[in-house]
Amino acid sequence: MASKMLSAFLQQNLTELKGQGLYNTIQPLESPNGPLITIQGREFVNLSSNNYLGLANDERLKEAAIRATNDFGTGSGAVRSINGTLTLHVELEERLAHFKGTEAVLTFQSGFNCNMAAISAVMGAGDAILSDELNHASIIDGCRLTKAKAIRYNHSDMEDLRTKAKEARESGQYDKIMVITDGVFSMDGDIAKLPEIVEIAEAYDLITYVDDAHGSGVLGGGAGTVKHFGLSDRVDIQIGTLSKAVGVVGGYVAGSRDLVDWLKVRSRPFLFSTALPPGTVAACISAVDILQNSNELQTKLWENTRYLQEGLKNLGYSIGSTETPITPCIIGDEVTTQKFSIRLYEEGVYAKAIVFPTVPKGTGRVRNMPTAMHTREMLDRALSAYETIGRELGLVR
Ligand code: PMP
Repeated sequence: MASKMLSAFLQQNLTELKGQGLYNTIQPLESPNGPLITIQGREFVNLSSNNYLGLANDERLKEAAIRATNDFGTGSGAVRSINGTLTLHVELEERLAHFKGTEAVLTFQSGFNCNMAAISAVMGAGDAILSDELNHASIIDGCRLTKAKAIRYNHSDMEDLRTKAKEARESGQYDKIMVITDGVFSMDGDIAKLPEIVEIAEAYDLITYVDDAHGSGVLGGGAGTVKHFGLSDRVDIQIGTLSKAVGVVGGYVAGSRDLVDWLKVRSRPFLFSTALPPGTVAACISAVDILQNSNELQTKLWENTRYLQEGLKNLGYSIGSTETPITPCIIGDEVTTQKFSIRLYEEGVYAKAIVFPTVPKGTGRVRNMPTAMHTREMLDRALSAYETIGRELGLVR
């Protein structure tokens, strides 16, 4: 018989969330996750995916996945450390290391898993982690898996980081101290101030850790935020995802050979969760090839980004502090932001409202993700909807 306590807990909390308008109803797509998507038979301009370069629907990746599936099957059959490691995994890791300019790379089943794996394998009791207050949930959870002291610093506030790093180091309480940051912040699209972070890290002997989920494939010729700043030899640990610009699924940790060797024996998702399947790995290899050999898709992504961002600004909207394709259109209070997103949906534009508690109260926004695959006509459709709705709600003239 079902537990009454569990049912009561679930019902009470679900009702509460729904009452606060915080329950997210998921709408399945009836099409690939491209620049146009179909939901319940209707077509939408899609401004919600992380498929930055359109690689998730690229024929070359699909063919690579099909070929590897035919050759090796659908599953890798075991965890990496038993016999789930195929030559394909090793090839992908070698290619990624070359691309990132690091000694070695280890792949995981997701970017989320990378943070679970790497933070907890490196940090422990007696250590401290300085973490940007806007870091991704997987970093927060990765830190929670350790017995290290977590110290949050104000978002991209280098004075606050410097003060806290100095205090932590001079307290003599901690052995290893790490500073950890997103490379690109996923809600605002701003880039971490890596040159200053690295300088502070060197002054106070901190381990540097950059989660570059949104920078990989987008910045630094595709190699990410660390490369963008020319800091490849001054950052200890980099995380990337294979699910956004790379267009597949999975994640990787890039760093020294010793780091990778240590993760192979100490990181739990590597030791206790089945390896990425062959088709996925082969598609990733194909994506890395494309990223290394051409900048065409990145150029298109940035052209579309500029077009959409200029268009929104010309209409009179604020796009906050973004420096990347992540384009928040700041609407303001929570109710108006939700209303705005619903109206966009009615007008055939799929872009999600992001409100408190994900972002601070009163800074509700609709987050737009332009990709290399959008055409001008699609972006114009979206901008025209922004104009119509903005006028309707009295947000723009
Ligand atoms: N880190 C950051 C900064 C992210 O934005 C995300 C994805 N939302 C992840 C990690 C998780 O990556 P994945 O989707 O590959 O698990």
